[in-house]
Amino acid sequence: MSGFSMPSFSGPCRVLKFDADKCVGCNLCVDACPLDVMIPNPEPGLEPIVVFAEECWFCGGCVQECPHGAITLIFPAKQRISTIFKRKDTGEEFRIGQKKPMPPNIVPPSGE
Ligand code: SF4
Ligand code: SF4
Repeated sequence: MSGFSMPSFSGPCRVLKFDADKCVGCNLCVDACPLDVMIPNPEPGLEPIVVFAEECWFCGGCVQECPHGAITLIFPAKQRISTIFKRKDTGEEFRIGQKKPMPPNIVPPSGE
């Protein structure tokens, strides 16, 4: 690795995870990223280097572009936490305090 190319540790999270067994170092993901979050790895054939993790929008463009399915997006923890709970025994999903069944939405669409 070049002495001038280091992963960014200041981002909200790791952002991208590359599967080294699948990545062929084609850099299609690098070209696809609108924010230039990654740079090509100076070692041919190796996965790109994330240099601006804090600028990632989590748009998924790089994941879609990768022909080998080698990229996994790692969302920040606060975006992974859901307010919907699931009962282990029944699989029922619910919100705390939610009436059952959910009352119908009687608010008319905006503009009417
Ligand atoms: S998710 Fe979007 S912004 Fe983030 S690295 Fe991939 S293409 Fe770039
Ligand atoms: S597009 Fe996929 S295979 Fe190509 S460099 Fe990026 S992660 Fe590796």
